[in-house]
Amino acid sequence: MILKKSLKSKKRPAGKARAGDSIEFIQPRIREILGVIGEDVSREGLLDTPKRFAKSMGFLTSGYQASVEEVVGTALFKAESSEMVLVRDIELYSMCEHHMLPFFGKAHIGYIPDKKIIGLSKIPRIVDVFARRLQVQERLTAEIADAIMDTVKPLGVAVVIEAAHFCMMMRGVEKQNSKTITSAMRGVFYSESDTRKEFLTLLKNG
Ligand SMILES: [Zn+2]
Repeated sequence: MILKKSLKSKKRPAGKARAGDSIEFIQPRIREILGVIGEDVSREGLLDTPKRFAKSMGFLTSGYQASVEEVVGTALFKAESSEMVLVRDIELYSMCEHHMLPFFGKAHIGYIPDKKIIGLSKIPRIVDVFARRLQVQERLTAEIADAIMDTVKPLGVAVVIEAAHFCMMMRGVEKQNSKTITSAMRGVFYSESDTRKEFLTLLKNG
């Protein structure tokens, strides 16, 4: 069994801006940017846009203020078996760190409990802790896998994410139908095993 050294799931440093101040900070800068791209910032439709942008950016990046420990809380329970748990088709919305454009798709997460299981609703919430940050899909996938390894301490975790990236669809290569698939396998899923095969078969047949 090969276990990759886990990334810490604690809060990332939030830079200089504090959450409470960010709306005040962002608004005038967005107003300036709107002017620079050629907009008339005084027209009615745009009056509240800087504020709306600041608020929505705050939500879309709220993962910086979240931590896996807080999200999981006390929702760890005694495992009664070591059968695979698979939560598939978890809706996922994130933003690429290169263009700050959305990417979205689905995450499929399987794990083999050892001593503990985690409340099922917590798995999508762990996804959001990392998805609501500026990301690359590869790192997002690994961070989710490592966070589950760290908190649930299962025999293994498998995370597969399939996503479409607006930075490829709207600009750049302008490919509307391509999907990027990434996976992170930890513990018993890491090597070519029956467990890994079972996980991939379950995904295929879903
Ligand atoms: Zn991008």
